Amino acid sequence: MIIRTLSTLECTKLLAANRFARLACAKDGQPYIVPFYYAHADNHLYAFSMLGKKVNWMRSNPLVSVQVDEIVTGRRWKSVVVNGRYEELPDRIGHKAQRDHAWALLSKHADWWEPGALKPGTPPVEDDLPHVFFRIFITEVSGREALES
Ligand SMILES: Cc1cc2nc3c(=O)[nH]c(=O)nc-3n(C[C@H](O)[C@H](O)[C@H](O)COP(=O)(O)OP(=O)(O)OC[C@H]3O[C@@H](n4cnc5c(N)ncnc54)[C@H](O)[C@@H]3O)c2cc1C
Repeated sequence: MIIRTLSTLECTKLLAANRFARLACAKDGQPYIVPFYYAHADNHLYAFSMLGKKVNWMRSNPLVSVQVDEIVTGRRWKSVVVNGRYEELPDRIGHKAQRDHAWALLSKHADWWEPGALKPGTPPVEDDLPHVFFRIFITEVSGREALES
């Protein structure tokens, strides 16, 4: 097996071709990582979530990492790591275009909202439950690929 570095363009293509990732944030020296869905566009990863620990933590420390991969086997895979900055898209005048953009990107998939909208013990989604659209501004990206030699 050999490992090669992906170019920035290859990383961008992998981010655009996928929608499932792991989002890591940190607070007071403690990391926290969860799976989530995103949509890639214009150097951002757009996402939807209910309020909870990760949103609270990202509000307090907006520096995050995201990891996306395509694994064929343990010897054939690609992995991309993004460093970025959390940006909330509030439901306020001045942010409508960005929220609509996030909604348009995410809603290309029928199940886009459900994983972010359900929590243990909560009833099925109600429209008025507090939720957020947010995006990660990509400041740095790196990628590696494993190939059979
Ligand atoms: C395939 C997939 C897609 C998903 N897509 C989204 C999405 O687009 N948007 C979204 O917001 N969420 C998504 N989720 C759910 C997400 O992983 C979190 O469970 C959820 O967002 C709650 O996170 P929170 O920080 O608000 O947790 P809280 O409800 O505040 O709970 C915090 C506590 O619960 C634990 N916890 C939370 N989530 C998990 C978990 N997934 N696994 C184990 N322990 C957990 C934490 O350790 C922490 O102690 C997805 C999950 C999967 C598997």
